[in-house]
Amino acid sequence: MQVTQSAKLGNVCYDIRGPVLGRARELEAAGHRILKLHIGNPAPFGFECPPELLQDMVRNLPDAHGYSDSKGILPARRAVVQRCEEMGIADVDVEDVYLGNGVSELIVMTLQALLNNGDQVLIPAPDYPLWTASVALCGGQAVHYLCDEGADWIPDLADMEAKITDRTRALVLINPNNPTGAVYPRPVLEQIVELARRHHLLIFADEIYDKILYDGAVHTSIASLAPDLLCLTFGGLSKNYRVAGFRSGWVVLSGPKQHAASYIEGLDILANMRLCPNVPGQHAIQAALGGKQTIEELVLPTGRLGEQRDRAADRLNALPGVSCVRPQGALYVFPRLDPDVYAIEDDVRFAFDLLEEQKILVVQGSGFNWPRPDHFRIVTLQYADDLEEAIGRIGEFLAARRRG
Ligand code: PLP
Repeated sequence: MQVTQSAKLGNVCYDIRGPVLGRARELEAAGHRILKLHIGNPAPFGFECPPELLQDMVRNLPDAHGYSDSKGILPARRAVVQRCEEMGIADVDVEDVYLGNGVSELIVMTLQALLNNGDQVLIPAPDYPLWTASVALCGGQAVHYLCDEGADWIPDLADMEAKITDRTRALVLINPNNPTGAVYPRPVLEQIVELARRHHLLIFADEIYDKILYDGAVHTSIASLAPDLLCLTFGGLSKNYRVAGFRSGWVVLSGPKQHAASYIEGLDILANMRLCPNVPGQHAIQAALGGKQTIEELVLPTGRLGEQRDRAADRLNALPGVSCVRPQGALYVFPRLDPDVYAIEDDVRFAFDLLEEQKILVVQGSGFNWPRPDHFRIVTLQYADDLEEAIGRIGEFLAARRRG
């Protein structure tokens, strides 16, 4: 008897850990050294866990072996409320905060509670693909609005508005953005709020990279501009605090919650059904949000992340036919391959071939729901020398694929 996957997975795709990674593992098992530029996991690249977080977690371990409240432990939720006040998000109470096993769990949970079959959600292209995958898993339809590379990857508002239909329920914003590194200026956010207001859309704001900013970029939380709209703001420890393995994230509801009683009841059902998030991971939240924000030292111009971002962007931009918008935040660069210079028809093939020939693992642009085979993503967590080596080898690989 053949066991087949459910039809619900028909449109679900998450290529960051897709078939190219499977092949990389085979090559590694066969003794090859693979330069990995594919996932935003700081720990393997020498980014240590802030000691205060670890100490707090260890101190609390003896009391962390039972289930917690389904929404999470109170001290951590209070710390998130305090963070919201700092970000200017009005009128948030501990009951509006749900902790989760990373933002990932909460993305699925909050969409699951909202969507009926065929409901549409506006999602950026390129996106962090968990959003598109989760909408599909929940029976919805992801509708992609374009971000404009020529304008530092800011969302194309006309495209966004043109794609709204009577089935559109919500708008997803990823800011700072993965994979583009864009940080959206306040006037752009104000226009998006205006659009959501006019079309009665919920706002899902994925702000997991809100502390990883370069060149003095300022992050504005969209919920702080929209006290009259229902906003769900997502944050967590994986990136800002370099502890992706703790699986520690949160979502905060703000705005007119009195009009969302049924939705909130749905969220509560789903939070109860998963019993509670991992309790030791929750204990790191209070220490993280109350403590010294060590990530800021890393992203200063002399810090590792800032230097690596510069080296990656500079080296890529020096390759013929390659251009790369310098990221203002997050951990990635998303370079463009000029189609007049390179003949690349299939970017999955491109990623496979790069792996086979140069032993470099990247994720192709279509893995981020980018519609053309002319981009790929590099994670800038690797040490600067490894990044340079990798980009040098990408240059050799590309040289063999130049047109004419
Ligand atoms: N949102 C974005 C934009 C991400 O890039 C990631 C991870 O890469 C996540 C959410 C998931 O993070 P978590 O580790 O909290 O599940």
